[in-house]
Amino acid sequence: MATTLFSDIEYLKGVGKARGEKYRKLGVTTPYELIYHIPRDYLDFRTHVPIQQAVLNDYNVLKLTVFKKMPPQRIKGGLVICKAAASDGMDDILIVVYNNVYYFQAMKESSTYYMYGKVTGSFLRKEISSPVYISADETVLIQPKYHLTQGLSVNMIRTNMRQALEIMRNEPFETLSDDIMRRYDLCPLMWALENIHFPESELAAETARRRLAFDELLKLQIGMSVMKSRSRRSTAFKMRDPSKVEEFIKGLPFELTDDQKKAVGEIIADLCMGVPMNRLLQGDVGSGKTAVAAAACYFAAKNGVQSALMAPTEILASQHFHTLSGFLEPFGVKVCLLTGSTTARKKAQIREKIAAGEIDVIVGTHAIIQKDVEYHSLGLVITDEQHRFGVAQRAALAEKGDSPHKLVMSATPIPRTLALIIYGDLDISAITQLPKGRKPVKTYAVTGKLRSRAFGFVRDRLDEGRQAYVVCPMIEESESELFAVKTYAENAENGDLKGYTTALLHGKMRASEKDKVMEKFRDGEIQVLICTTVVEVGVDVPNAAVMVIENAERFGLSQLHQLRGRVGRGSFESTCILITDNTSDECIKRMKIMSSTTDGFKISEEDLKMRGPGDYFGNAQHGLPPLKIADIACNMELMNRAQNCARELLADDPMLEKPQNRALKMDVMRLFSRDIIG
Ligand code: ADP
Ligand code: MG
Repeated sequence: MATTLFSDIEYLKGVGKARGEKYRKLGVTTPYELIYHIPRDYLDFRTHVPIQQAVLNDYNVLKLTVFKKMPPQRIKGGLVICKAAASDGMDDILIVVYNNVYYFQAMKESSTYYMYGKVTGSFLRKEISSPVYISADETVLIQPKYHLTQGLSVNMIRTNMRQALEIMRNEPFETLSDDIMRRYDLCPLMWALENIHFPESELAAETARRRLAFDELLKLQIGMSVMKSRSRRSTAFKMRDPSKVEEFIKGLPFELTDDQKKAVGEIIADLCMGVPMNRLLQGDVGSGKTAVAAAACYFAAKNGVQSALMAPTEILASQHFHTLSGFLEPFGVKVCLLTGSTTARKKAQIREKIAAGEIDVIVGTHAIIQKDVEYHSLGLVITDEQHRFGVAQRAALAEKGDSPHKLVMSATPIPRTLALIIYGDLDISAITQLPKGRKPVKTYAVTGKLRSRAFGFVRDRLDEGRQAYVVCPMIEESESELFAVKTYAENAENGDLKGYTTALLHGKMRASEKDKVMEKFRDGEIQVLICTTVVEVGVDVPNAAVMVIENAERFGLSQLHQLRGRVGRGSFESTCILITDNTSDECIKRMKIMSSTTDGFKISEEDLKMRGPGDYFGNAQHGLPPLKIADIACNMELMNRAQNCARELLADDPMLEKPQNRALKMDVMRLFSRDIIG
């Protein structure tokens, strides 16, 4: 049988078993996937310089004629070193190739090459080691840089790539109509794939990249929308009596904000629809999403079905358990906690009760989606901080019940244009206002010179009975000179924080240890928590009113905003002190934004402006399928265009069932795993 685009990669001419294994390491299992092994960058051999001008200890392109190859030398450890003398017509240089005799053999005496490699040595005697080279006769001087693995060279990939593209030329495929390509100013797919790997000019590479990035954004958006309409076509438990939730809201110790009320209304309306809810509840840290979730759980319980709330960490799960039971138990709604560290005996007991329907709300980490947890009647699934869960995990949880209603909560406000792509499979409720009486966190950025004054301020707050966080980027001391919590804690205990109770919290601690520390901090037994970003998500200690962030330059705007959200959760005036010695324009700008606003949506807009959307796509936390190109090659303009195109296509053919959309649909399915949208 002839090799096709979807045959095993090892059947591609010139690959075979051994190299096939290497390709698998790169995630390439078929010729199709090889073609989509997109170069991250290019090497431009046109930039060659004379040997004399080569920057020492750096990578350079040289144009060299090999005049003498020495015989390979074997040295201990089985290492082979090959050397050759070469010249650029003015000066000489030594080419050194380690452990790759074949590669060296291909280099011919008295031939001329462009070579790219690290140049070392002195003014008089220079070396270029293991250069990438092409013949000086080559007409295409722009060569892709691929993500490689041991034993798989650029040249091998290029040879195999030519074969794969040859197959594609015989079974060409195009996902977009001529009309769309023309109107959206895109080159044909086949042309794009040839030119992303073998560009004849920079412009060709750029044009190709634009098409492929557009495709990826389009597929992403379409996949999300198709998932959304598919779930709309299935049925879900239809809840009744929306007014029942009123008694719960009236019983709360505070008045819900208008946004909270609106969100509760939207959720309850969804739950009464008979089709599965798929809703995102977006709201800044501290905006009160948990109270909204509690109202939904209450309503589900009154309708006789169970709710599950899944949190990304044990700390958060146990915190949610406390909050939810506080809200719900007075109404006779039974809440339980199930995490990885629950003892086996306790787990078995809880599982029994869940199966018997004696528990209404199950809170936990991903332990609650394990196969051995059997629900009596799961009707509502809530995931907190959903950006930590992948699309696949959400799908696994959905399979637990009979199409349960789904609510995902995120404390990462995202600009609307982006939200439409990243959360394209969901309806969106947003809480934009903070509860009454909440004072915005005052934020100051200072340099390390003011550190001891900053700690004077911290001590004053501690003396008033408040608590504090100190955040450092690292756990252990390293060469990087960044602050690490372990040494920081030791120093602080004997210095700036002498006489105050401090504790460490970081990601390498065992879950049970972390929980213990968090519990003590919540109970006020610990005054200062010296921690890494493990406190980032959702931790709620209203009495904590000061946060110091060391090496603030190390954190992105959104992350700083998330961290800062740990304070200012009670009625106290709260302060965040950012310490950084970085004086670059970008850092100063970021610090200014942080000190001038506490509006998460505004901060994410700024983040988007400064860094482009790539970071959002590249961020595994959103649980998007892995993108190969849009994360580095897209801009807002391209994103808006892809969005318009998706809308246009879906308006005409919502499930991509028309024959002309078949290729596109297959491509969408390949981006997402088949079982998610299949
Ligand atoms: P988040 O949106 O970050 O999950 P939470 O739901 O944890 O926020 O709420 C933060 C704090 O505010 C909690 O202590 C909660 O009890 C309280 N809270 C929630 N809603 C209100 C409200 N409408 N008025 C006053 N306090 C509220
Ligand atoms: Mg929360």
